[in-house]
Amino acid sequence: MKQIAILGSTGSIGTQTLDVVREQGDIRVWALTAGKNIELLEKQIREFRPKLAAVWEEKDAAALRIRTADLQVQIVSGMDGLLAAAVIPESELLVTAVVGMIGLRPTIAAIEAGKDIALANKETLVTAGHLIMPLAKTYGVALLPVDSEHSAVFQCLNGEREPENKIHKILLTASGGPFRGRTKQELEHISVSDALHHPNWSMGKKITVDSATMVNKGLEVMEAKWLFGVDASKIQVVVQPQSVIHSMVEYEDGSIMAQLGTPDMRLPIQYALYYPKRRLLSGSRLDFFALGSICFEQPDTDTFDGLKLAYQAMERGGNMPTVFNAANERAVAKFLNHQINFLDITKMIRECMEHCAYIEHPDLNQVLETEQSVYEWIESRW
Ligand code: NDP
Repeated sequence: MKQIAILGSTGSIGTQTLDVVREQGDIRVWALTAGKNIELLEKQIREFRPKLAAVWEEKDAAALRIRTADLQVQIVSGMDGLLAAAVIPESELLVTAVVGMIGLRPTIAAIEAGKDIALANKETLVTAGHLIMPLAKTYGVALLPVDSEHSAVFQCLNGEREPENKIHKILLTASGGPFRGRTKQELEHISVSDALHHPNWSMGKKITVDSATMVNKGLEVMEAKWLFGVDASKIQVVVQPQSVIHSMVEYEDGSIMAQLGTPDMRLPIQYALYYPKRRLLSGSRLDFFALGSICFEQPDTDTFDGLKLAYQAMERGGNMPTVFNAANERAVAKFLNHQINFLDITKMIRECMEHCAYIEHPDLNQVLETEQSVYEWIESRW
């Protein structure tokens, strides 16, 4: 039996992780956490019988304790709850499927407790890759990518070892999102429901908006830089609108390895849970004759300037990726709340990058302080 814990079990990645658990039948789930969705969390507790479950607010925890009084489950709340779930002794692997920088401290705690990490929460590496990667090395834990692009790169690297077989380039594929091909003017009046309609993937709201602005691809470039130890200049974004090539690696001899499949997040989740083994996975398979052709385009970084800003944040380094990420988190929340327009999202990121104080080598506290100062700056300005 595999022994795991899941942060963010009620979300898109969390529920699909539980689909894999249900289908495979040999994984024991010791801890589950949610933000607010106690109805779904209660159902998950009844089905998977974890020892511990956590929600964000204590009032929701109190309500959940009453609802699960007939079960042997400890209900906790807040950051302490997330930390307790992350380090629960029985688990050997933590699936980090919470959204946003809230995943940072629990991921660090899990690494320090010797847990392998199935990493969906990309914000962790974006903001603290310089702390997380050496920490994982020190504690000898594996960081197993769940993001489909990073799982694809990870799979393309199988059997290839540096220093003999050097990565020449990582080709990170992108669908281009729902507004690919539109002009900036056409993006001025994009509504929240337009932005939440992704052509190929069904995901949580924040990452769906990130895909529409292409900020998500910027976050993924930063994530790839840390995970695979390559310079940003060696990571090229290639628009591949059908989302069947999940990413590629080019080696020094010009050979390019690609990983393909239907757009189904259960595949990278399952690969991370069972690595290096592959297991049978139900669902449709890629049919090349039905597909017909695969197209490629250059990303339009003038219209979708989030990607350009991400490369600038990476070049600057230090706490700039945190500024980029925190500004985006707050901007997307405001957009989803109908407080700002679609184009304001990257405008807000750019302004924060211009105005927030730069720190060259931020420690964990400085990363978290940067997040707060970005939020304060946005509240005072917008
Ligand atoms: P969702 O919004 O669907 O789910 C987020 C999860 O986090 C939910 O369980 C939510 O709980 C929980 N959560 C939200 N706020 C808090 C909080 N304050 N405290 C504790 N828990 C909280 O997100 P996704 O599953 O789409 O994405 C999760 C992560 O995975 C993100 O970092 C994303 O970038 C990454 N990712 C997602 C992919 C996808 O296909 N969805 C693909 C690749 C990466 P509740 O439901 O109760 O609010």
